[in-house]
Amino acid sequence: MTSKTHSKQISIAIIGAGISGLSCATRLQKLGFEVEVYEKSRGVSGRMSTRNGDGWNADHGAQYFTARDPLFIEELNHWIQSEAASIWNPCLKVYKQGQWHDSISSENRYVGTPNMTAPEKFLARNLSIQLNQTIDQIAIKKGKWSLHSIEGGDIQKKFDWLVLALPAPQALALTQQMDLKIKGWVSNANMQGCWTVIVSPNQNLNTDFDAAFVNNEIISWISRNNSKPNRIGREVWIIHANPQWSQEWIELDRDAAAKLILDCAKKLGLDFGNSKVSIHRWRYASGHVNPASGPIINQDLRLGFCGDWLRGGRVEGAWLSGYELASQIEILQK
Ligand SMILES: Cc1cc2nc3c(=O)[nH]c(=O)nc-3n(C[C@H](O)[C@H](O)[C@H](O)COP(=O)(O)OP(=O)(O)OC[C@H]3O[C@@H](n4cnc5c(N)ncnc54)[C@H](O)[C@@H]3O)c2cc1C
Repeated sequence: MTSKTHSKQISIAIIGAGISGLSCATRLQKLGFEVEVYEKSRGVSGRMSTRNGDGWNADHGAQYFTARDPLFIEELNHWIQSEAASIWNPCLKVYKQGQWHDSISSENRYVGTPNMTAPEKFLARNLSIQLNQTIDQIAIKKGKWSLHSIEGGDIQKKFDWLVLALPAPQALALTQQMDLKIKGWVSNANMQGCWTVIVSPNQNLNTDFDAAFVNNEIISWISRNNSKPNRIGREVWIIHANPQWSQEWIELDRDAAAKLILDCAKKLGLDFGNSKVSIHRWRYASGHVNPASGPIINQDLRLGFCGDWLRGGRVEGAWLSGYELASQIEILQK
């Protein structure tokens, strides 16, 4: 794809450097727009993230992704060629009605390499990204967007367009003073949290699977991170509690949540003994509008929304929503 230059360069601010924001930013930049990304964390990747511990690292957000849409498959092939992603073939089981079964799923699963943040770092390499900038106010005056961040105060630069590449509730928090239809969309997304436990066992666990889907228990997923390609370091396991349970108990004390999750793992035959554990609370892990709407644009304000919640709630949909939003902005600017 060739890059174009707009006769008068149109400037676009993107809030959020998860996969949707980065997808939108790379495409807009290729199309000749001037793009600036603002991200509240100290690195890019959002929920496709990796935690580093004492001799281990583990993907504690998205576990893997699938690729079905031809556009995303094309993008994934770039990542694979650049060694930023690879196929993952775990020995996969399913726990159902008190029994373990082999999974019959034949779907290809992919992961970032050497960890889940690699595709985002790949996308971010030629972008201008301002990290550690939590945008807490946005305003439009005379057709130009201005931003304010908690850390840096008023941002000098003004923008022609603004893109919010954020989970639904965070997009709402920024726009709720504006007269937009965003509230309805956000409540339809029904975003739920996820309690995640990360355990590096004192001794490697002797299991006959690398990853498992668990049904009708507190736990919904468990995986041995080291079974993914190019992982180094000590053995480490990721356990996700199911979305409904997590959401119901999202305010639970961290240690209490970890204990309940580890007790459940023990019941399933995974006894981590007194191994050191880390716990992470994802406030907005999953959820999406149904049916998927794709990105939303308010043409009068020159304001766009993208993110997984508008397109199926997963990595592939998040990437596609950012790409599609960029294409729609390009059409409107012609
Ligand atoms: C526990 C868990 C397991 C998952 N498992 C899978 C899986 O196996 N397969 C799969 O396909 N998907 C999975 N997902 C979902 C997947 O991670 C998401 O669909 C995808 O990463 C969403 O990308 P996004 O860009 O839409 O949002 P995000 O990744 O959430 O990006 C939003 C970004 O905006 C930043 N931000 C928020 N507010 C502000 C602000 N005010 N100012 C500046 N920056 C801000 C955030 O820090 C973040 O970087 C999982 C998610 C979680 C949490």
